[in-house]
Amino acid sequence: MDYQAYILPHIWNLKPYSSARDEFKGNEGVFLDANENPIGSGTAIAAWNRYPDPMQHQIKAQLAKIKGCEENQLFLGNGSDEAIDLLMRMTCATDKHNIIICPPTYGMYEVSASINNIVIQRINLTAEYQLDVPAILAAINSETRLLFICSPNNPTGNKLNRTDIYQLLNSFKTGFVVIDEAYIDFSDEPSFISELAQYPHLIVMQTLSKAYGLASLRLGMAYANPTIIALLNKIKPPYNIGGATQQIVSQALADREFVKNGIELILSEKSRLITEFDKIPQVQQVYPSHANFLLVKLQSAQALFDYLITEKVITRNRSSVPLCEDTIRITVGLPAENSILLEKIKSFYL
Ligand SMILES: *Cc1c(COP(=O)(O)O)cnc(C)c1O
Repeated sequence: MDYQAYILPHIWNLKPYSSARDEFKGNEGVFLDANENPIGSGTAIAAWNRYPDPMQHQIKAQLAKIKGCEENQLFLGNGSDEAIDLLMRMTCATDKHNIIICPPTYGMYEVSASINNIVIQRINLTAEYQLDVPAILAAINSETRLLFICSPNNPTGNKLNRTDIYQLLNSFKTGFVVIDEAYIDFSDEPSFISELAQYPHLIVMQTLSKAYGLASLRLGMAYANPTIIALLNKIKPPYNIGGATQQIVSQALADREFVKNGIELILSEKSRLITEFDKIPQVQQVYPSHANFLLVKLQSAQALFDYLITEKVITRNRSSVPLCEDTIRITVGLPAENSILLEKIKSFYL
């Protein structure tokens, strides 16, 4: 791929900020280079007075092993949201280039594009919540730089047909295909990370916010060809991943059992919720889910949602989203929380 043709010239030619720590790689020495406080930080838990590793080598090494990629195929952002924003700023000029999104889908693609004043083309999913491949292909033009595909999709929960995704990857090569796999750990679907060598214009995004239970630390991953990764590293804020995040993530990644057991519990609770929802006549449809949440179509969705709030059970009303009339999105909680939810829904309809 001729990357230069699809990256904004000022980004391609950018001379990045050179941080103090880029010049000396050792851990030991007298560090008088970064205007840090040499004394400490006054917190009980460890000391945070030194700048963190700008390239996050430790956690990248761990993640590369877990995910089966090379470290130079891996970018780390302050949440996936940072990667989404940087990809847009890297490829799309205001009022000139466009992105394609497929609603109903994750809201940040649209928000980020709007912040950057980028043209948005919305190609709705089909009634079955699958990609409308012919419509997407028809929408692609010479100014299209990014196609966002979310699978498993938020808020619908289903996975998108793999053959459709391949067809788009094979047909759209004058820009980048971004596959957001935030919920992939809850699915039996294999990641597209293994396809990176095959598709130089493929970018896969994942996050530690869901299955890994680290939403508060803010760590999102983008996997792509090393050329794209190097560009993202060049334009990110130098210290975008804080030292506390790097330290705690490194510990968390060592505990593979926690994640595995957590996924098992969530999936079994999801099955229980589906079984119980099926017994409630006012629940019209529970959409197939490959994620840690269920999109549910039910009678008087808005009133139920409001009632649940008064009962301090917070769900997400998706009724105003295209193709999601009369639905709420429910995250699978702890067993006791799910029981409370079921009890409240039943008492609302009684
Ligand atoms: C939750 C979610 C994310 C995660 O974003 P972070 O910024 O990493 O917390 C990304 N994409 C989708 C579709 C999500 O639902």
